[in-house]
Amino acid sequence: MSFGSDFYSVRMRAAVGGPHEAGGRHLSGAERLVPGAEAEAASVALLQRALRLGIPPDFVRITLERVAPEAIERIPCPDVITVLTEDPAAAREAAVRLLAEVGVAEGVARAAFRGLLSGLGPGGRTMRGAALYSARTGKRLEGNPERGVRASHMDYAPEVREAVVETLLRAGLTHPRTMEALVVAAKGLWAGALAEVCWSDDPDYTAGYVATRRHGYVRFPVFKPQGAAGGRVFFVNPAAGRPARFIERLEKRCVLVSGPPRVRPSIPIEALDTLLGDEEP
Ligand code: AMP
Repeated sequence: MSFGSDFYSVRMRAAVGGPHEAGGRHLSGAERLVPGAEAEAASVALLQRALRLGIPPDFVRITLERVAPEAIERIPCPDVITVLTEDPAAAREAAVRLLAEVGVAEGVARAAFRGLLSGLGPGGRTMRGAALYSARTGKRLEGNPERGVRASHMDYAPEVREAVVETLLRAGLTHPRTMEALVVAAKGLWAGALAEVCWSDDPDYTAGYVATRRHGYVRFPVFKPQGAAGGRVFFVNPAAGRPARFIERLEKRCVLVSGPPRVRPSIPIEALDTLLGDEEP
């Protein structure tokens, strides 16, 4: 069959205890935007991921949607830099400063970290998507507190995927999570977020990042404190419009990241002031 130049959005979500909308607990989710000829392989790969989590899911949904190439926008990849710290507390302080630089009030950043520690969802559960915070007031803006907002309909452009893998490998960023997180960060910033902060649900994975409009994807290898819940937060400035526009762009618009990131040399935490003072990042 010929798909012409059409793409498919392929999405997966898995839960235990029933579907998410019936109160099931979120296990895993992932999204791709691939040329039609790759849709089958991408669907199978996401299904395999859902079935190999170590916990048998009670519910898995794979959704495919055909997308015309004219509906897809090309977006830039954020720069990547690693900041080396001894412990999560130092990384968190650095993150608060990076967030402040783009207009996230210190109290709001600290509230978000409290949520990331204890679980951002109702009753301290982890969410299926990300929390959405007003950068100024800290008000939670996501409509559904269990689900949050979820970046989807995005991927690397097929012709640059290999170059992205090579660029990240050359920089020692070998974990597939980095590649996936970078595309979420690219979409969040493009959609209008001032910043994002994330650390994983995976108890053994301590790295995380802050993505900001000013410095791109700033990675901290030791970010998540032991025992912390996982999660993700987007910060927006509602003065720039209602969050509906951000959410529509984040969840519905189709984008492909158009090139590999510029990876800047890693810096120790002591050099953070230089990064913050950098006029031309
Ligand atoms: P992960 O790094 O995959 O463990 O994800 C950490 C947390 O980020 C998850 O618990 C979700 O709450 C959230 N998350 C994962 N993928 C997305 C996405 N595409 N959009 C928004 N939030 C996400």
